[in-house]
Amino acid sequence: MKISISIDDYRCKGCGACAMEVPEVFKVNEEEDKITASDEPVILTEDIERAISYCPGDCIEHEQYK
Ligand code: SF4
Repeated sequence: MKISISIDDYRCKGCGACAMEVPEVFKVNEEEDKITASDEPVILTEDIERAISYCPGDCIEHEQYK
């Protein structure tokens, strides 16, 4: 299943856990001091599921890509 991902910047704590778990999807944007997610839809993997479930701010939003 493919999903689209976005980060709720307001709730994101900037801990970087998601970027450590799945660096190919979540990037640390040091210039803006925030985390960004891939603009492209991605296949939902166990690593991504883990990043979503462990996010301390519960701010990784995702929906099935149609
Ligand atoms: S795990 Fe959640 S709170 Fe931490 S940087 Fe990623 S999106 Fe932000």
